[in-house]
Amino acid sequence: MSDIKTEFTDITIVGGGLVGLSAALALQTSGQKIKIIEASSLHHPESGGLNARSIAVSYSSVQIFRALGVWQSIKKQAAAIRNIHVSSQGHWGVTRLSASELELDAMGYVIESRLLATSLLEKVEASDNIELLTCAQFESIETGDESRVGYQFEDQHYQQLSSLTIIADGANSSAREQLGVEHNTVDYGQAAIITNLEFSKPVDAMAYERFTEQGPLAILPLGGKRYACVWTRNIENAEALMQLDDGVFIDELQRCFGFRMGYIEAIGQRFSFDLQRVEARQLTKGRCLLIGNAANALHPVAGQGFNLALRDIATLYDLLGGRVLSDLDVLAEYESIRKAEQDRVVRLGDGLVGLFSNRLPLLNHLRAGSLAALDLLPPLKSQVALSGMGMSFGGNALLRGHL
Ligand SMILES: Cc1cc2nc3c(=O)[nH]c(=O)nc-3n(C[C@H](O)[C@H](O)[C@H](O)COP(=O)(O)OP(=O)(O)OC[C@H]3O[C@@H](n4cnc5c(N)ncnc54)[C@H](O)[C@@H]3O)c2cc1C
Repeated sequence: MSDIKTEFTDITIVGGGLVGLSAALALQTSGQKIKIIEASSLHHPESGGLNARSIAVSYSSVQIFRALGVWQSIKKQAAAIRNIHVSSQGHWGVTRLSASELELDAMGYVIESRLLATSLLEKVEASDNIELLTCAQFESIETGDESRVGYQFEDQHYQQLSSLTIIADGANSSAREQLGVEHNTVDYGQAAIITNLEFSKPVDAMAYERFTEQGPLAILPLGGKRYACVWTRNIENAEALMQLDDGVFIDELQRCFGFRMGYIEAIGQRFSFDLQRVEARQLTKGRCLLIGNAANALHPVAGQGFNLALRDIATLYDLLGGRVLSDLDVLAEYESIRKAEQDRVVRLGDGLVGLFSNRLPLLNHLRAGSLAALDLLPPLKSQVALSGMGMSFGGNALLRGHL
């Protein structure tokens, strides 16, 4: 192995997941030179069909994708959510949110994660301003007059100097660790079972969120008869459900969801994730900024993790204003704006988990009543819907959908 080679770029991004790729696309539009250091090959062997993993993107995220010029390619593969039906198992309260009430075409879209990643990757590879290194291993990070990232690529050690390093290497971020940014971990004692389903009587463009004593069940349209299912249970129950054969599992799921879309006729492979919230205590340090799961890995109850990160990117884009980072006050401003918004989204998610997962009888009445009341109060309902779609966050350049 030869000596360490030194290289320079405007912005280094550690981690080329959905968030790292999106950040690169946004920040290169003003001509900044960006290098992404990604450990994997970014090749997605994951199969499609009933075994695909998917992600729900909100209206605000769609606007950002439009501005980045990737929406046309993503939209071809995405299923629209035009209505959301919210209910609580064993209670009479129901609320319906609809895109037409908000004069929108859709409240959001659901897309297979691998297809979304492929659309972002194609755009990144077509950019003259972005250099993407895959199978490159992050090794070290320091911050001073510039940020200094050490990494290994093809048996050679490098140090990358930049005016700004964006840390996007996921919830177990080793860059966050090495930078000395502490984090809090909240264990929810729950697991999410993820699978895909086919229903006998699908309702076009309808998403369902059903709250139960153990946690929420989300059923999201993937197009045609195909729906994505995210079923949150306590850990013991999730483990027991994972052991069941498909037929008995479907019976249990159908008991929880009901027959709103007829019978579950087919089911894909099941995956289970223990749910934790990992929250960095600071979003910036020196010339480094944490984003995505490295900054905040959320409970999936509100489907907000990636959507939140895109709004973080939109704020950073605005604050940098196309300039190379020189004044560190920009990062201080970013920290204060985004920390407040992230805390709001975390509280919203935890509030939903707490309100809808608690067995206290008083809370049962409250949650049933709150859903019914929400349905009777269109302005309040619109506020909840707008907030969920990221639209309470106004005035941002990328959110206008064009640059
Ligand atoms: C069950 C579930 C459902 C969800 N549903 C939704 C949803 O509907 N909508 C939504 O907005 N969000 C949702 N989320 C959250 C969303 O998945 C995450 O917010 C998002 O994927 C985070 O992406 P990321 O790029 O920050 O992290 P990651 O996807 O973890 O990417 C990190 C990248 O860094 C790379 N890396 C790691 N270590 C190194 C290293 N040492 N050197 C170089 N590279 C490295 C990795 O290879 C990877 O490519 C959900 C989450 C879960 C668990």
